[in-house]
Amino acid sequence: MSDASSYDRIEFAVVNGRLVTPRGIVHGGVAITGGRITRMLDAGDVPDATRVVDAAECYVLPGIVDSHVHFRTPGLTHKEDWEHASRAAAAGGVTTVIDMPNTDPPLMDVLGGRERAALVAGRSLVDFRFHPGIDEHNADALTHPFARSAVSVKVFMAGHHTAHNVIRDHGILDHVFELAARAGVRVVLHAEDDGVFALLDRRRRLTGTRVAYEQLRPRSGGIVAVARIIELVRRHGTAAHVLHVSGGEEVDMLVAAAADSLPLTFEVTPHHLSFTSADVERVGPRLWLSPAIRGAGDRERLWQAVLAGGVATIGSDHAPHTRAEKSRSGLEAPPGLPGVQEMLPAVHTGLARRLPDADERMTLIASLLASTPADLFGLRGRKGRLEVGHDGDVLVFDSEAEWTFEESDVQSFCGWSAYVGQRMIGKPLVTIRRGGIVWDASTRQFGSPEGSYLDVGPLREPHE
Ligand SMILES: [Zn+2]
Repeated sequence: MSDASSYDRIEFAVVNGRLVTPRGIVHGGVAITGGRITRMLDAGDVPDATRVVDAAECYVLPGIVDSHVHFRTPGLTHKEDWEHASRAAAAGGVTTVIDMPNTDPPLMDVLGGRERAALVAGRSLVDFRFHPGIDEHNADALTHPFARSAVSVKVFMAGHHTAHNVIRDHGILDHVFELAARAGVRVVLHAEDDGVFALLDRRRRLTGTRVAYEQLRPRSGGIVAVARIIELVRRHGTAAHVLHVSGGEEVDMLVAAAADSLPLTFEVTPHHLSFTSADVERVGPRLWLSPAIRGAGDRERLWQAVLAGGVATIGSDHAPHTRAEKSRSGLEAPPGLPGVQEMLPAVHTGLARRLPDADERMTLIASLLASTPADLFGLRGRKGRLEVGHDGDVLVFDSEAEWTFEESDVQSFCGWSAYVGQRMIGKPLVTIRRGGIVWDASTRQFGSPEGSYLDVGPLREPHE
């Protein structure tokens, strides 16, 4: 077969959609061959492709890039495993995830991504990479000549049940920011101050008071940590990304710091956008999060920052625990919940109440959940946009579907969701990863687990 038409044959096409592209929303489709977007299709253009998906005038978005997940592999697979977690991702419209290092053992080798990827090979519906961890003992790994290929490192400033590698020492944190700036590596942070919590914990033991989670891990911890990060970014010029911001004061400080041209960005999560402390009282430990869910005023401040462009990314912080762990008494119940599947519908549901124009909602979602996380974490030009040359990661999204999230929808191995019973507006219909369908809501079928490790660093380790 050597004639031009067979050479040009399109393997996969999505047609008849409202494409959310960097140049605006246009009617048409995308053609995918060899896993990449090879052509943007005009409205009415239905090419002779091996497989055609009709979007039926629904929105067609770039596949969601979730830069904050805990897929619990290795060592914590009684809570979640990669097969189930990647199914949850695909069902939620997610085609790329970046996994956090606090597994067992934790990923503390700055250049250990490829080795870690071998554990996941053949088990993932979605493409993936990792944020290696930095603690008080491995900061000098950032001086490795190829450290830049890590792209990002994760720092916990406070610990909890599954986070043991923490930087509490202010001098070491300063050193990490200095080395990361020199290496050109972005620092992503759990920004709560362990010193503040330790101080309060000592007082609490004296009084013996039983407390709810928000009182145990109050907003003061986040405020102190964010203030310290701003100071360090100002001193060293380090690119930093503050994860799961929960309180209004933190938002105010981070927005002001960005306005001062500091290279500081922040993430919010669907659960901090969806729930308030009143929900935590009603639901109990399943809504215990670290950082904690806060009040209605804080939630609205987060939404305001989402709408005004202050927030850079939305990440799920998918962090399942078993039902039994979440049922432990008192403060033994660990913080965290599943969310990679719920993220897009939950965020769209909240947005629908605050931004009536559906085109504007889609444009915002494409930035916060796809292009910006891709750009921040070394995936620019490959992930996060519907553009020729990018990977064929495409999502057909029905922005008008109204449905209730049921327990039978849950794909995570943990088998529960804090969103069960919640009305959702908007539903992922078909999720396509590099030109292969990985989730089809109409048949509830998944594709094959051929997700790839995204080795994107500009520099590679020398061959041994
Ligand atoms: Zn997390």
